[in-house]
Amino acid sequence: MSKVTVKASKGNTENKGNAEKTMVSASLDEVVAPINATHTEAGEISDISIEKKLFALYTLQQIDSQIDRIRIIRGELPLEVEDLEDEIAGLETRTENYIEEIETLQKSITEKEFSIKDCQVLIKRYEEQQMNVRNNREYDSLTKEIEFQNLEIQLSEKRIREFSLMLGSKKDEIEKAQVVLNERRNDLAIKRDELSDIVTETEKEEQSLMKKSEENQKFIEERLLTAYQRIRQNARNGLAVVTVERDACGGCYSFIPPQRQLDIRMHKKIIVCEYCGRILVDKGLSEVSSS
Ligand SMILES: [Zn+2]
Repeated sequence: MSKVTVKASKGNTENKGNAEKTMVSASLDEVVAPINATHTEAGEISDISIEKKLFALYTLQQIDSQIDRIRIIRGELPLEVEDLEDEIAGLETRTENYIEEIETLQKSITEKEFSIKDCQVLIKRYEEQQMNVRNNREYDSLTKEIEFQNLEIQLSEKRIREFSLMLGSKKDEIEKAQVVLNERRNDLAIKRDELSDIVTETEKEEQSLMKKSEENQKFIEERLLTAYQRIRQNARNGLAVVTVERDACGGCYSFIPPQRQLDIRMHKKIIVCEYCGRILVDKGLSEVSSS
């Protein structure tokens, strides 16, 4: 659609006087295509209005900022997955420790049960021996042994009860950990799906934006483009083209004098911030480009 408009207006853009008067259009193609056409056909860019260059630069900045945002979002998502993986690993370790403790307790219980059986065997043997004693002294001595073994049995039974209680609470804790673990594993599965969806989605978006960015770069003279890319690289937020916000540079917030703001609004020359070097545009231009 815009291509037709561009071709129709090409005759005008080649004429310097008319090109200056051409209004900045809402469509990117309409604005930048003539720049390109002039660039390739005439081999020079002197008759491209500064307003169009500014508009192309601002548009490029918006595309590149969108690419930056996508990369930041995608950079943070794997961290959420990593956090979940760490939490799951922690819960698994805790569960493994509980299982080990349970095994130790079960072993102790089994040992005590064996020792009770040993005592019972001894008691039975002593009772048999009591049938064949030669005197009271031997009989009493065996009775004492039997009493001692019975005490041993009681002590073992007490230990078994204690171990069983501990065993029960460990099993409860395992169950609780298992519930949380299952929840986290579900969360992780969902997050991983989300991540792969978003990665696929954003990669597609990123590629289309990068294509747009490259296409748009063709419409900006090399000297300007190099400057733009250099400023972008050095700026922490990746902004090389900023709007004037409340009498200040939208990049570094330094005050811009009224006369300079007027110059910016005139779109007659490319003006950079004296402090941070970013290219300054007025809100009027940005509104045109975003509509
Ligand atoms: Zn600045």
